[in-house]
Amino acid sequence: MSQENAKPLFGGVEAGGTKFICVLADSRGFIKARVDIPTTTSDETLAAVRDFFIKTAPEFGQLAALGIVSFGPLDFNPRSPTYGYITKTSRPGWSNINLLGFFKDSLNVLVEIETDVNSSAMGEFTEGSAVDCENFVYVTVGTGVGAGIFAGGKLMQGISHPEVGHMMVPVAREDEGFAGSCSFHGNCLEGLASGTAIHKRWQTHPKNLLENHPAWDLEAYYLAVMCVNLTWMYAPEKIIFGGGVMVRSHLYPKIRANLKKMLCGYAHDAALSDMDSYIIPTALGGDAGITGALALARRVYLEARNA
Ligand code: ZN
Repeated sequence: MSQENAKPLFGGVEAGGTKFICVLADSRGFIKARVDIPTTTSDETLAAVRDFFIKTAPEFGQLAALGIVSFGPLDFNPRSPTYGYITKTSRPGWSNINLLGFFKDSLNVLVEIETDVNSSAMGEFTEGSAVDCENFVYVTVGTGVGAGIFAGGKLMQGISHPEVGHMMVPVAREDEGFAGSCSFHGNCLEGLASGTAIHKRWQTHPKNLLENHPAWDLEAYYLAVMCVNLTWMYAPEKIIFGGGVMVRSHLYPKIRANLKKMLCGYAHDAALSDMDSYIIPTALGGDAGITGALALARRVYLEARNA
């Protein structure tokens, strides 16, 4: 019994524009407590998150570590004086907020912070579509396009996290003249294939576009271009899709067919001959982020223990 009580508890926070999801879980990811806190002012919201973990302690025990997934932009450079801060955001009152430091100081626990897309990739790795592989790419296509890249069982991180969404792609002939929607690059991948781009091009929300609308052929073309680039660059075992646009399941066969054509038979691995298991949807859906936050907490705890 005492051994049972000694098992570490992990916290996860998924910080979003409308709510902060907070969970307390055991080492297997079993949720012991959960609360959704509305996103209001930074002071009020962060205090409510902190209080959730303080108030649950008498019943469940002290946190061993906390994983935080947050909207950005965030400073992920460990050498930077503002590491772990939400930097400059258009969200009023949320710029220059020391997210990492606030929880480290107020809860006195190990804290790990990650982008929402990297965290979702981590969730897929620990409990989702990528439990059986160490090399994969998780791509989210929603209002933006982003990707977390796993290589050798670890998230790739260079001078910052990879920015797959902003790769340049050849513009489809039928799309010439469309300026794109990326405020930095115009017609980068995100500017051509995000939900925002679809909305701008067709002047309606993507959910209003029927399956036979030409929007989806164009979308599948751009996502297949991304997939072929990711395939040659990272040789992943799988490419997993999530995000609001990718709930449209009719996109998958189109992406696979386009990709197969673009690979031109220049494939070195048998994995590429089975497109149905190469291009796949998320197994966790909307839970990928919070699942990843808990995985982050476990990772930082184990790293500290093994250090
Ligand atoms: Zn861009």
